[in-house]
Amino acid sequence: MEKIKVGILGATGAVGQRFAVLLADHPWFEVTALTGSDRTVGQTYAEGCRWVLPVEMPDYVRNLAVLPTEPGMDAQILFSALPADNAREAEPRLAEAGYAVFSNASSHRMWPDVPLLIPEVNHEHIALVEVQRKQRGWKGFVVPLPNCTTTGLAVTLKPLLDRFGVRFVLMTSMQAMSGAGRSPGVIGLDILDNVIPFIPKEEEKVQRETQKILGTLGECGVAPAQFAVSCTCTRVNVLDGHTESVFASLDADVTEAEVAAAMRDYDGGLCALGLPTAPPRFIHVHDDPYRPQPRLDRDMNNGMTTVVGRLRKDAALPNGMKYVLVSHNTKMGAARGAVLTAELLVKQGLIN
Ligand code: NAP
Repeated sequence: MEKIKVGILGATGAVGQRFAVLLADHPWFEVTALTGSDRTVGQTYAEGCRWVLPVEMPDYVRNLAVLPTEPGMDAQILFSALPADNAREAEPRLAEAGYAVFSNASSHRMWPDVPLLIPEVNHEHIALVEVQRKQRGWKGFVVPLPNCTTTGLAVTLKPLLDRFGVRFVLMTSMQAMSGAGRSPGVIGLDILDNVIPFIPKEEEKVQRETQKILGTLGECGVAPAQFAVSCTCTRVNVLDGHTESVFASLDADVTEAEVAAAMRDYDGGLCALGLPTAPPRFIHVHDDPYRPQPRLDRDMNNGMTTVVGRLRKDAALPNGMKYVLVSHNTKMGAARGAVLTAELLVKQGLIN
C-alpha cells in the first residue's frame, strides 16, 4: 500500500527521537514533517537536535526542516511528543484541522470523549473516536496514550481483572531518568547515588488513568473501574525502563501458577492482526527470582513486552498476589506504543 504521511511534534526531545528512529523503515508510515519549539524552528533536524540515543540519527531525518507546530503540515497522522502545556492548545487545533493526533502528553487524557488507549488492553474504547469527532465537529481526532508508569501496571492488571477480578491495587514505582525528558530533565547532582521519593502529579495520573483504561465503555464515555489504586512514585538512577512493585488484592483465591498462566496467555486479541509494531507477546513472566531488571529486560521484543517476575501470594492482603514488573517508558510507554495504536486505527479503517 502507499505509505501514509506522518509528522512528529516535539521531534527533538527524548520521545521525539524515539519516533524518528522507529519510523525510519516503517512499512506503513513515512515521516514528512517535524516540529520543534522556537529554539529549533527553521533549522534542520540535525542542526537543532542534541541526539541522545545509542543508535545513529537516521539519514532520512537529518535534513528535514524543523517546522512550527501549526496546521499546513503535509501529513495525515501526527505523533505528538509535545510538553503538556503546548499540547493542551496545539493538539485540539490540529485535530480540528483534520489530523489524526496520537499524543504522549497528559493534557487530554481525562476528557470524557477521548479514549485512553493501550491497544492490547482496551481497544474497544476506540469507539469514542467517532463520538469525539461528532460532538466536536472535527475531521480529525486526539487519541492520547497513558502516562508511561500507568502502561505496565494496566497491561499486567488486565488479565487479572478479566480472569479473577481485582479489589484494590498498591504499587511503588522506581522510575527511570529518561521519563523526565530532556528539558529540564533530571539533574545529575540530584539523582546520582540517590532515590527521589516524589514525582509531581505522577501518582494522581497513575491512579485515575488505570481506572479509566480498565473501565467500561458507555455511550458517551468510560465508567472508571471500581477498584482503588494507590501508589508511590519514585525516581531512581536508571536510564530507561520503569520498575514497579505491585500488590493486588483479587476477588478470587488463586495460585501463582494460575496468575502466571493468565499473564502469559494474554494478548488482548491483537497478536493475530499483523500490526507491524506488535510484539509476539505482551507479557513475559520470569521464574528466575532475580528478574525482571531494567537493564536486562526493558528491551525485550523492542521494548514492547512488559516483563514480570517475583510473582507470589501475599498473605497480608485478602486474596493477595504481588509481583515486580519492568516496562520500557519511551518505547511501549511512549513512541512505540503510539505507533502501535495508530496501526490499529489504520487497520480498523479510521484513518484512510
Ligand atoms: P523533552 O525531552 O523535554 O522534549 C520536549 C520536546 O518538545 C522538544 O522536542 C522540544 O523542542 C519540544 N517543544 C517544546 N515546546 C514546543 C513548542 N511550543 N512547539 C513544538 N515543540 C515544542 O520531553 P519528552 O520526554 O520527549 O516528553 C515529551 C512528551 O511525552 C511530554 O508530554 C511527556 O510528558 C510525554 N511522555 C514522556 C515519556 C518519557 O518517558 N520521557 C513517556 C511518556 C510520555 P526543542 O528541542 O525544539 O526545544
